[in-house]
Amino acid sequence: MTLRLYNTLSRTKEDFVPLDPAHVGMYVCGPTVYDFAHIGNARPVIVFDVLFRLLRHLYGESHVTYVRNVTDIDDKINTRAKERLAGRDIPILDVVRELTDETGRVYREDVAALGCLPPTDTPRATEFVAEMIAMIEKLIVAGHAYVADGHVLFDVSSKPDYGKLAHRSLDEMLAGARVEVAPYKRNAMDFVLWKPSDAQTPGWESPWGRGRPGWHIECSAMGEAFLGETFDIHGGGIDLVFPHHENEIAQSEGAHGGHPLARYWLHNGFLNVEGEKMSKSLGNFVTIHELLQDWPGEVLRLNMLRAHYRQPMDWTLQGMKESWSTLERWYAEAEPVADRHIGEGFLAALCDDLNTPQAIAELHKSEPKDLAGGLSLLGFSTISERIEQKAPVDMVEIADAIAARIAARKARNFKEADRIRDELVARGIQLMDNPDGTTSWELKR
Ligand code: AMP
Ligand code: ZN
Repeated sequence: MTLRLYNTLSRTKEDFVPLDPAHVGMYVCGPTVYDFAHIGNARPVIVFDVLFRLLRHLYGESHVTYVRNVTDIDDKINTRAKERLAGRDIPILDVVRELTDETGRVYREDVAALGCLPPTDTPRATEFVAEMIAMIEKLIVAGHAYVADGHVLFDVSSKPDYGKLAHRSLDEMLAGARVEVAPYKRNAMDFVLWKPSDAQTPGWESPWGRGRPGWHIECSAMGEAFLGETFDIHGGGIDLVFPHHENEIAQSEGAHGGHPLARYWLHNGFLNVEGEKMSKSLGNFVTIHELLQDWPGEVLRLNMLRAHYRQPMDWTLQGMKESWSTLERWYAEAEPVADRHIGEGFLAALCDDLNTPQAIAELHKSEPKDLAGGLSLLGFSTISERIEQKAPVDMVEIADAIAARIAARKARNFKEADRIRDELVARGIQLMDNPDGTTSWELKR
């Protein structure tokens, strides 16, 4: 069956033909590890995990290399690391390592709970600084970059097709972008490849003094290190098209004599929560970690896949409740089935630009053996034991009981609030009231 993918570069759905017919290479921009990832960040992780699984099904397990980097060089990380240093007499890079190790570990656990396979390689930027420096040197020699005031900048005027992924001209990009104005820039759109670090900021020795790489060059260097100059698929969220991916293309093509970086560029749409853009100030910012306290990971996974990856999606409590009951029904039907099969219609839907809503519709009308096979391909069978263990506890019912108890307390009906708590305790569910007014629960059996 032919896989077809929508390519942001051509703005059309194309037949997917890998460079090497026997091997597929895919790179997806990974997390910046300074804090818990939110549910929006989970979208590319789940979407590209489904693509990884589909490619493994089509080409064979050992014939797909999936690289997802870890951004552990970033100014947000540096700010957190300085706070964390708190007078200790240790190198700032050790503090960065401490912070990014901890955050990275939680991230890996959380996305594993969402049923995502570990990628083939997960390089961290701090371990590829030499490769970044080498690439920047190549760009300078090729006339694509210049040194100014301790910085190295990419000269966008040296690349006439700059803007080809975003489908925008330089003027349009300039109008839409938040451009950092700096006296050392030749053109306003020139972007940083290397910048100086002061003594308190993480830095590495380079031909341009002690400093650190810009974000974009991190991915260009790690992509090359694992997948070579040109590879098949590059993915990420739609917000990364410009400037991040546009700049990755400029750098990699500039350093590689014009050879294309990736042949298929895939971007997932944005996720909103209950109809609103997620933001800390609106108080609707939900981390994967928090959600996993209350919901089995596979419920979150199914809920994510009910929307087509390129469409904007609205994350709602109602949607999660529906996903939960669908999964329970499916597991009851599919679990006893020993031989699994991948249904035609189901596979055709996935091969049509990863049309998961259509694939799910196919599962709804499938025979148990096709249902079992489909669930397994979508990444559900590996984690089904967990939902089984949790099955005696109805998460939705508990969430409703907690909400009712909070409402009773607000109405100063403490008797009712205590009754709800005692009823939960009797079922082995311990409530913890948090200082911020929320309530968490734990199973004590
Ligand atoms: P970041 O750590 O902010 O670089 O984001 C990691 C990944 O999550 C990137 O691929 C982003 O495009 C993606 N992402 C961030 N916010 C959202 C969102 N609300 N919806 C969908 N994807 C998102
Ligand atoms: Zn990237």
